[in-house]
Amino acid sequence: MVEMFKKLLNKITGKEDTKKSPKRKSNKKKTTKQGTKSKGTKTEFENRFQKFYHLNKTRLNKERRGNYKTKAKKGSCVRCKRKAKPGIVFCDYHQNKQKEYNAKARKKLKKK
Ligand SMILES: [Zn+2]
Repeated sequence: MVEMFKKLLNKITGKEDTKKSPKRKSNKKKTTKQGTKSKGTKTEFENRFQKFYHLNKTRLNKERRGNYKTKAKKGSCVRCKRKAKPGIVFCDYHQNKQKEYNAKARKKLKKK
């Protein structure tokens, strides 16, 4: 009984060993440099969200445009699932939001 158990254990641990310890390529010593030297290149992002956006913007924009069109056609708000006001693509809430946003944007433009 014990023999069998040992065999089984060997089998398991043996398998595990070969799986877990493939020779590590210790040559790869890349220290991750983050934002140290890359000034001047345009691949610098303030955060990972921006990076994601820049890497995927073509796809994202396509998707967004698609959503926008279908939603606008259906007469629902393009930012949420509520019904849009007639003639525009926003619901009450998002129309106001958009107004605020536009006002802010205009102020910014004037200041600069
Ligand atoms: Zn909305």
